[in-house]
Amino acid sequence: MSTLAGSSHPTRPAVAWIGLGIMGSPMSENLIKAGYDVTGFTLEQDKLDRLAAAGGTAAGSIAEAVRDADVIITMVPASPQVEAISYGPDGILENARSGALLIDMSSITPQTSVDLAKAARDKGIRVLDAPVSGGEAGAIEAVLSIMVGGEQADFDSAKPILEALGKTIVLCGPHGSGQTVKAANQLIVAVNIQACAEAVVFLEKSGVDLKAALDVLNGGLAGSTVLTRKKDNFLQRDFKPGFRIDLHHKDMGIVTDAARNVGAALPVGAVVAQLVASLRAQGDGGLDHSALLRAVERLSGAQL
Ligand code: NAD
Repeated sequence: MSTLAGSSHPTRPAVAWIGLGIMGSPMSENLIKAGYDVTGFTLEQDKLDRLAAAGGTAAGSIAEAVRDADVIITMVPASPQVEAISYGPDGILENARSGALLIDMSSITPQTSVDLAKAARDKGIRVLDAPVSGGEAGAIEAVLSIMVGGEQADFDSAKPILEALGKTIVLCGPHGSGQTVKAANQLIVAVNIQACAEAVVFLEKSGVDLKAALDVLNGGLAGSTVLTRKKDNFLQRDFKPGFRIDLHHKDMGIVTDAARNVGAALPVGAVVAQLVASLRAQGDGGLDHSALLRAVERLSGAQL
């Protein structure tokens, strides 16, 4: 970092963290463990208390959180929330120091990231889009994949912070590129979960020992990080999120729209997007995305 205005550490930038949900809480705690001063703001009081208990500082507003920050990290649900926390008199751009680096790690539309970078430049604030993959477990274990869009120099200065949060950290191109890669990631994950869910229903209806089957499948070409991470959800029918169907519905909308814009056909992705939408319409939006199993079970007339 070129300036370290707000940090009590001589070499580490002061960090503001906005959005302390399923992902933001463990990620910000990993930064605290790595020795960073973290001041956070989010909508739920219990999450602010959790940050304070972990050694961070709870702020009463976005303005208070970002005022002295060298680096501002945001991790909120979707584009409307990124816009709400960034713009306006109470937002990040109006209240952060000129020269601060804003790293948005939310999964949002590429265009929102491009627009944010442009608006921030007028305020002297640098921006990276840096969405992640790896889920809640990846966040807790600090092994996330982080796909970054923006300028090389900003990527280089963000790298030490990102290395405290993840393992595979790649600059994918200019502003918005991280979001485009994340959209592709969500396509792959949804189709993979759907395939696993169909296999689970097929195996159960066939009377095969499901645990044995999933263990051996995961050792072969059918194995995947999805199967490793979601196997127990399928076996125990535990759909506590994790990654909510509501958020995956949002992401399938992003990838469908972005693909249409560049003329790419996603026939299987389009079907899975409809299955995610249907699950949500039936009241399962708050469940983990492994609950795609419930959609396949309904289609197969299986016991829910
Ligand atoms: P979440 O709903 O658990 O957390 C979102 C947080 O944002 C909440 O704590 C909320 O208080 C905060 N927030 C919303 N509006 C705000 C505002 N105006 N001011 C301050 N705080 C505000 O969501 P999550 O699961 O942590 O996901 C966050 C982002 O990460 C999403 O874009 C999601 O798609 C992406 N993501 C999630 C996972 C996962 O497994 N959960 C994995 C990869 C990426």
